[in-house]
Amino acid sequence: MEFSYSEQRQMIKETAREFAEKEISPLITKMEKEKRTASDLIPKMKELGFYGIQYPEEYGGVGCTYLEYVMVLEELSRVYCSIGGHISVNSLCAGTINDFGTEEQKKTFLPGLLAGDAIGSFAFTEPDTGSDARAIRTTAKRDGDDWVINGEKIFITNSPLPGTIVLFCKDVEMEDKITCIIVPKNTPGYIPQKHISKMGMHGLEVADIVLENVRVPYENTVGGEAGRGQGFKVLTTEISVGKLGISAQCVGMTQAALDESISYAKHREQQGKPIAKFQTIQWMIGEMSAEVDAARYLTYATAYSKSNGKNIMFDSAKTRLFVSQAAHRAASSAMQIHGAFGYTTEYNVERIFRDMKLAEIYEGVNEIQRVIAAAELLR
Ligand SMILES: Cc1cc2nc3c(=O)[nH]c(=O)nc-3n(C[C@H](O)[C@H](O)[C@H](O)COP(=O)(O)OP(=O)(O)OC[C@H]3O[C@@H](n4cnc5c(N)ncnc54)[C@H](O)[C@@H]3O)c2cc1C
Repeated sequence: MEFSYSEQRQMIKETAREFAEKEISPLITKMEKEKRTASDLIPKMKELGFYGIQYPEEYGGVGCTYLEYVMVLEELSRVYCSIGGHISVNSLCAGTINDFGTEEQKKTFLPGLLAGDAIGSFAFTEPDTGSDARAIRTTAKRDGDDWVINGEKIFITNSPLPGTIVLFCKDVEMEDKITCIIVPKNTPGYIPQKHISKMGMHGLEVADIVLENVRVPYENTVGGEAGRGQGFKVLTTEISVGKLGISAQCVGMTQAALDESISYAKHREQQGKPIAKFQTIQWMIGEMSAEVDAARYLTYATAYSKSNGKNIMFDSAKTRLFVSQAAHRAASSAMQIHGAFGYTTEYNVERIFRDMKLAEIYEGVNEIQRVIAAAELLR
């Protein structure tokens, strides 16, 4: 594995860090209040290529690897995880088309997604199914040269933002196998509902969507005719990559929890000395520092494997499991170090604590990650 910070890699990481500190940080209060992704940020992230880091230049990507991708997500999420989530879900949609789409689909849909002109979404969750993708009820029915889609998807990230969505549907003519279909979000019948009121990740726009006779060309079947009925494979493959993005977000949040704790512990005094002098505080900081290093190496290793064409289904499940739990422990310790102040909205650790929790739930709950990790060993 080659994790060395080449000059180019170092530059990309630093650019993302600088961007997060200069451009995202001043908008956090606004995003937390308005509960929207700040629209001013999108053109700036487009300019820096954040929507297409790891994708081929021929489709409008930057042409880097998954290592640079996770490094950028880490830096964005260190300052504000919602923006890491926004980029990561866009990438989940783009990745589906890049990995499974036909040449024509790549040429048609990737340039917009990779430029940030069309914001991507990825929809499998429904009112009656989250963890069990085979229980999807949204139907896709072929009608001549078109698909007609009906149903409901819930908790869909970026769904209120204009762009492209990949929808996982029950293919009624294929014994209810799952087929993945590309849908421009401005198609009549695609109806986003009101934004979901969440506990955290307020800068990430998430809404349910109703699909009422959504009609798109049959040629939007991901992978073309050969891809019909292959949606379950597409879903599990791409969710593995999505979990890599979530892991990178966790590394950023864990690092932020550690940074905030060090700074606070050096300045807060009790019994006439900084609390950093208490061994109990040192233990927590030492523990967090070991965990953030482990989380980062695990995430980079999985990114490296993905860049080298390895199937990361098991690796990304184990990585997401460990890294999200490390983020949970770090956020909890950071609040403890901050005492009562950590429980107030004046300090970032309270927000990190709320934001971090999502990482143990979305794109597959941690219970399922344990099952996947065990499946590799018990087959
Ligand atoms: C902010 C946010 C953004 C989201 N974005 C998206 C998105 O963009 N696209 C999308 O499709 N979805 C999205 N989701 C949905 C998310 O991926 C699902 O909520 C998640 O997969 C879990 O499904 P569920 O909520 O139905 O939980 P359930 O499946 O109902 O699980 C509930 C609990 O039951 C247990 N459990 C369930 N199944 C098993 C099992 N097989 N083995 C062991 N234990 C089990 C676990 O403890 C689990 O926590 C988002 C959710 C949130 C909150």
